[in-house]
Amino acid sequence: MKTLIKNGTVYLDGAFSVTDILIEEEIITEVASNIQTDTAHIIDATGKHVFPGFLDLHAHLRDPGQTYKEDIVTGTKAAAKGGFTTVCAMPNTEPVTDNIAAVEYIQRRAKDLGFCKVKVIGALTKKQEGLEISEMASMQKGGIIAVSDDGKCVQNARLMLNCMKYAANYKLPIIIHAEDYNLAGKGQIHGGKISTALGLSGIPSMAEEVIIARDIMLAESTKAKIHIAHLSTAKSVQMIRDAKANGLNITCEVTPHHLILNEEACAGFDTNTKMKPPLRSEKDRMALIAGLIDGTIDCIATDHAPHQDFEKEREFDHAPFGIIGFETTFTVLFDKLIKPGTLSLERLIEALTTSPAKALDLHLPEIKKGEPADICIADLNEQTLIEADTLISKSKNSPWLNQSFSGKIVQTFCNGRITWQAEIHQDS
Ligand SMILES: [Zn+2]
Repeated sequence: MKTLIKNGTVYLDGAFSVTDILIEEEIITEVASNIQTDTAHIIDATGKHVFPGFLDLHAHLRDPGQTYKEDIVTGTKAAAKGGFTTVCAMPNTEPVTDNIAAVEYIQRRAKDLGFCKVKVIGALTKKQEGLEISEMASMQKGGIIAVSDDGKCVQNARLMLNCMKYAANYKLPIIIHAEDYNLAGKGQIHGGKISTALGLSGIPSMAEEVIIARDIMLAESTKAKIHIAHLSTAKSVQMIRDAKANGLNITCEVTPHHLILNEEACAGFDTNTKMKPPLRSEKDRMALIAGLIDGTIDCIATDHAPHQDFEKEREFDHAPFGIIGFETTFTVLFDKLIKPGTLSLERLIEALTTSPAKALDLHLPEIKKGEPADICIADLNEQTLIEADTLISKSKNSPWLNQSFSGKIVQTFCNGRITWQAEIHQDS
């Protein structure tokens, strides 16, 4: 089986050029202009953009244990619709992914039923309780790519120091959800003018920043590789900029929502604006964009966090934190940051492909001869309407519902197999 993608504007080595791509079975076998073959299925990509499949370092597939919110099938299918061909599954499942059997369960389900590749992140501490180091050694043998207590944060600095020594020994990066529980308290949104106006308790920026400062110090002494999840404040960006300048092995990510929304989005009490870390001030948002442009922030991750309507449609104080992101990330970022010229399309694609791969030392997603055929095709002239009915994800907790954005992922290939195909737009 051969597929020829013709005349697409293809992302190659960090820049775009018009070329053809030949796929045979699972592999890209040729990238050149004017490839001739009579036996291939031809996809005319004239006027469309062709990217390496996106790689998401931070997703919650909720499987096992909370499959009413999402499961490996719906999660990976939603990811494929968003152009992703690899997603990394966070371990805050039920039970927690803190042992080899749990790791193998996810790997097996993803391999048998998944619509994209799934890499497993193991828990940093047993049951993510922040009390004892997890079975990192056996999970590492089983193929985990990092460890994290995401959703939670190890509060005890001495334990974190030991976790880092241990993880460094097994060459496992640690992904850090930076949140000091005492400072965050029962905060619901960013501690600022909007929390005061709405009478909601606030999560101060410092709740994130003190943990990042602590973990930078611990990483300096242990030589552990740390990756800070979902950065949200200007000061966090500056601390990481300084740490990188000092040669620390540190990387970080930002979510689409922290790049596009600020605390004002919470003014309507929409629980789909409630997440951790919270949407911060406009000054913070601008610092995140600047950090992404100058490379301080390595990559973009969805933090896809499905919750059902019955969970989200409650009083703001009682609704869970988090929103979905697989199906909205590309189109929302394209519409809000690329179209206005704030960020280049090249940097966006890098932040969704090679940068996250480099951050966790994963195989680089590239369109190149001999590479797996992990590819997505986007039509930047088409619109994507985000509607609850058409979202593949089991959960619909998105702040973008009923809004339309420029840019649409029309087709995704994972290992040469079509994992997403938008309905063909017919001119009448
Ligand atoms: Zn988190």
